[in-house]
Amino acid sequence: MKSFNIAVLPGDGIGPEVMSQTLRVLQEVAPQIQTHTALIGGAAYSKYQCHFPPETQVLIEQCDAVLFGSVGGPINQANQPQWKHCEVNSILALRKQLNLAVNYRPVKFYPALHDISPLKNTILVDCDDILILRELLGDIYFGKKHTFENNGVMTAEDTASYDENQIAYIAHQAFKAASGRTGRVTSVDKANVLETSKLWRKVFNQVAQEYPDVTLNHMLVDNCAMQLILNPAQFDVIATSNLFGDILSDAASALPGSLGMMPSASFNHEGFGLYEPSGGSAPDIAGFDQANPMAQILSLAMLLRHSFAMKFEANAIETAVSKTLEQAFRTRDIAQHNCQLLGTVAFTDQILSNL
Ligand code: NAD
Repeated sequence: MKSFNIAVLPGDGIGPEVMSQTLRVLQEVAPQIQTHTALIGGAAYSKYQCHFPPETQVLIEQCDAVLFGSVGGPINQANQPQWKHCEVNSILALRKQLNLAVNYRPVKFYPALHDISPLKNTILVDCDDILILRELLGDIYFGKKHTFENNGVMTAEDTASYDENQIAYIAHQAFKAASGRTGRVTSVDKANVLETSKLWRKVFNQVAQEYPDVTLNHMLVDNCAMQLILNPAQFDVIATSNLFGDILSDAASALPGSLGMMPSASFNHEGFGLYEPSGGSAPDIAGFDQANPMAQILSLAMLLRHSFAMKFEANAIETAVSKTLEQAFRTRDIAQHNCQLLGTVAFTDQILSNL
């Protein structure tokens, strides 16, 4: 039997707290998996004077998947050497090293938490979950950019570009994901204005021919932002470009109630995966046993399912998390009247007892 190895990078802030709880869950469901912990972010800076040390880079190359926590310090200390450019030097450099081309962000609506959603119960009633796929290597983030003076006026330019292969890759991932769900892809673009979006739409229509079991519809990004709030139940898989995905996935993350519940996964073309919570290092609550460990624990479930084909163990973790919420246990970010408020460790104890 093949033995799997995970590179575990807890990082900063709440990262180490939620990661240690996640490793308890891993130990329970799959003790045979080897974990190898390394420093990244501000935590690495203290020892190596850099945010992404060569030791960590080498370890990642030797492992089968990466379980990442979060990096970064308090916003008001952003200019201190430990935190300056920390995200750019660590997680962004890591995504680049691994050539991660697509990000998957499932947005799950738990019935037990409908009351803390910013949306009305009547809107949430048919919501189960939405999967947002975001392209990660192209678009305006990676095009030519410069700032210059034009007739005495400061001017800045960013260039967005996509080629048809980049778009086709995302389209295939979206259609494959939808095939295993309710079979609906919404491709989001701005094809009434942008050339990149016109090509995006054309390529999605071409790739759709290969997936007759999946229904494709197109939506303009401004309408999609509105529809996510008015009627999220209409969506199954949303597939979109880097910039639109960045904004839409953060907006959608807020709908179920807390960023602390949202896992994510990113893959390169070879299928290597990095799994991480959607939020940041939450320095405001770090060290107080208040962080919600769900995002990190559910990122582990995604890792087991996608990188190691351990569907049974992944389902077991997700079911245990849902059950813990149904039993009215809560961390502070999802606290409700008549529920039992628990710290990070005690909340994980409940998840473990439900496994
Ligand atoms: P943040 O996501 O860390 O926090 C935003 C809010 O959400 C805070 O109130 C925080 O307490 C809360 N929150 C986040 N995760 C939570 C959890 N698991 N449980 C309970 N509450 C949770 O965003 P921020 O405050 O803007 O950034 C803090 C630091 O994180 C910055 O240094 C930023 O650069 C970094 N950051 C890192 C990543 C990453 O590592 N991928 C992503 C975003 C931000």
